[in-house]
Amino acid sequence: MTIDLVRGIFTNRTLNLRSIKAIGYDMDYTLIHYRTDDLERRAYEITRDRLSAKGWPVAHLQFDSGSVVRGLAVDLELGNLVKATRFGYVIRAAHGTRILNYEEVRNAYAGTLVDLAETRYEFMNTLYSISEGNLFAQLVDLFDTGSLPMVRSYSELSSAVQRALDRTHVDGRLKAEIHADPDRYVVPDPEVVEALLDQQLAGKHLMLITNANWVFTNQMMELAFAPYLPAPMTWRELFPTIIVSANKPSFFSHDHHFYRVVDEENALLRPHTGTLDEGSVYYGGNAMVLEESLGLSGDEILYVGDHLFGDVHVSKSMFRWRTALILRELEAELRAMVGFQETEGNLMGLMAEKGELEHERAQLRLAALHEEFQNGGSGEQTSSGLDRIQSLVTALDDQIAPLARESGRLGNPTWGPIMRAGNDKSLFARQVERYADIYTSRASNFLFETPFAFLRAPRGSLPHDA
Ligand SMILES: [Mg+2]
Repeated sequence: MTIDLVRGIFTNRTLNLRSIKAIGYDMDYTLIHYRTDDLERRAYEITRDRLSAKGWPVAHLQFDSGSVVRGLAVDLELGNLVKATRFGYVIRAAHGTRILNYEEVRNAYAGTLVDLAETRYEFMNTLYSISEGNLFAQLVDLFDTGSLPMVRSYSELSSAVQRALDRTHVDGRLKAEIHADPDRYVVPDPEVVEALLDQQLAGKHLMLITNANWVFTNQMMELAFAPYLPAPMTWRELFPTIIVSANKPSFFSHDHHFYRVVDEENALLRPHTGTLDEGSVYYGGNAMVLEESLGLSGDEILYVGDHLFGDVHVSKSMFRWRTALILRELEAELRAMVGFQETEGNLMGLMAEKGELEHERAQLRLAALHEEFQNGGSGEQTSSGLDRIQSLVTALDDQIAPLARESGRLGNPTWGPIMRAGNDKSLFARQVERYADIYTSRASNFLFETPFAFLRAPRGSLPHDA
């Protein structure tokens, strides 16, 4: 069976699934996918209303789902959203909701490289960033007109948005709405259950490690998994290790204590010391005790999550776990790219033709210089040759420009494909490459690879490859 490209698993660093003994999963946007438009819209609206109740003049604002994508950086100094290449060069930027033109981008960023280690930048790590980025951009517009005297800077504005949005995710309202109307928010995926059953059958120790609280986790896992499990199996039986309210990324970097959920009905906790027992539900804790309980080393553990920093970056850099990033947007992008393949081929052909003409032109120029220097020639012949080439290049440019524009709009008309920045890889792609051993659109794509796959990284391409 060949695997559909769109559902493929893509490998940065070779991973033999046979040598993986335990697989940990994040829940939200990893095991359970939400309709991003609907969920982010509600998160946005509840947050907007919370700010409005505090007296912010925001009641009229509306969610604009396509306006931001994961992988952008928020520039807190200038109030911009920017897309950068893997080297940090900004290729596109918006101030608030207004897209900057070429000149404006150059003026703002000619001497600046986006470095995510600087506090100036906030990286949009997950699909949850979409409501946040959209609201922030719209509030920058309001801030610029002097309508938000309660904050003094873009940075304060961003913190205020973040705090309000965190409240939205923590308090029960959005969760209650999801639970009351799961069909509206949750995208069912029977294959994810099949994939995990196969992994369990193959002897993998499955773990659920989520920041969600126990009540919500239990409700959602029941809803998403129960209909597809063979009776009388429950979702709990899939996961010998369950950790809720894990507080990632802190889970990987601090030694918070574990609590055991002793009364699951009422979510009552009791402090827990020592290693973890299978079958219990734990709260909080840290990855060090977890590793100890499993008796495994980092390279025997695979962690699968959608948050580039909280799931993948920290687990890789602190524990050298093997890592998988879930990137749902990839499906639509891959489909768009497949549809664009023929045009992309034409574009490459035209670029190659242009390259040859440019080389010819450069040689002609140099020949003319030599001629002038040695014989005092007039250069007339050269000038007519240069004119001829110039008109050919101009004609090619007219063909190239619309195709290049189209290519830069795949996935999102403003920001383009998340993994690419113009001809280069995006800063997001660079982060993925560094921290995610593999990436794929959904956890259920493991089904097609089986638990025994040898996921081999392609031979890396280098500029001097023939
Ligand atoms: Mg998640």
